[in-house]
Amino acid sequence: MLTDNHGRKISYLRLAVTDRCNLRCFYCMPEDGLDWLSREELMTYEEMLRICELVVKMGVEKIRITGGEPFVRKDMMLFLEALSKIDGLNELTITTNGVLTAPLVPELKRLGIKSVNLSLDTLDANRFFAITYRDEFGKVMQTLDELLKHDMMVKINAVVMDGKNIQDIIPLVQLTKDLPVSVRFIEEMPFNGEGHVYSGLKWDYHRILHEIREHFPSIQKLDDEPASTSYNYRIPGHRGDVGVIAAYSRTFCGTCNRIRITPDGVLKTCLYDNGVLNIRDLVRSGVSDGDLQIKLLGAFANRSRDGREAEQNRDPAHESMATIGG
Ligand code: SAM
Ligand code: SF4
Repeated sequence: MLTDNHGRKISYLRLAVTDRCNLRCFYCMPEDGLDWLSREELMTYEEMLRICELVVKMGVEKIRITGGEPFVRKDMMLFLEALSKIDGLNELTITTNGVLTAPLVPELKRLGIKSVNLSLDTLDANRFFAITYRDEFGKVMQTLDELLKHDMMVKINAVVMDGKNIQDIIPLVQLTKDLPVSVRFIEEMPFNGEGHVYSGLKWDYHRILHEIREHFPSIQKLDDEPASTSYNYRIPGHRGDVGVIAAYSRTFCGTCNRIRITPDGVLKTCLYDNGVLNIRDLVRSGVSDGDLQIKLLGAFANRSRDGREAEQNRDPAHESMATIGG
């Protein structure tokens, strides 16, 4: 088993394959986009595949493909196909905004992908536009339909934003009445790529839960998986369930099993750190698998205890979540 210096199992890689995106969610990036990575800066599929194969050999069991929007990168389905063939990888999964995803669902299923996280912050087309600066609500809803039609496990990720989508909390919970989906409300984090400094979080997980409880007093707590980042609940009679992710409050660091790799090949052993190893440059310098493994183990042996420690001496406000992958 792969573990870090705090005895936490490392079993889950989140790989961001691009920083580009076809939406402009204001909590993630500026309206006019980012200073996009050049093709040379991006890791190639071959480089990413090699790294994935190596970390799976070392003990990683689950890989999530994220971004940016994974499906804006050319030939993404071919890359997913190659990943799906990695020996020893138990779970391959994706986080997508759903704009380009609907027609790809049958092929995703054929590749053995069983669950997809779909980002959807509102059930109102106008508010969707106000949040994402793009008129793509209909395509995202089509993706939700297709995923359910193909019996995929669906987690809907909704970032909770004061003044933007508070009125969507209850309708999103209502979705779980008839649909077998997990709706997960995420505390907004300061990674908007704009440098906004947060003066505190208005909607933390306590307040989100309080809002849900007010409307659904019979809500029941579910047992959470050991490394779960969400507190999970079910409303009696509902087919789906509801989760709240304390992403800013960071209540889950003690069991964190995940590492991240950015589109330009930087390893993050905590979402809040500044990157701890440039894997891409090592690969391009001709490193052997054995030496790369030693470097990775060194990084895992120096992991911050938690997100507060990881963010010390840095200013995450200029970073965009599109370069981290969520
Ligand atoms: N483009 C894909 C999508 O939106 O699903 C994948 C990448 S996106 C960066 C991954 C997740 O991060 C999404 O669920 C998104 O809502 C979440 N996210 C982005 N910026 C965030 C922020 N500032 N705070 C909390 N969650 C954020
Ligand atoms: Fe794009 Fe996802 Fe960021 Fe929205 S959250 S701008 S969809 S990368």
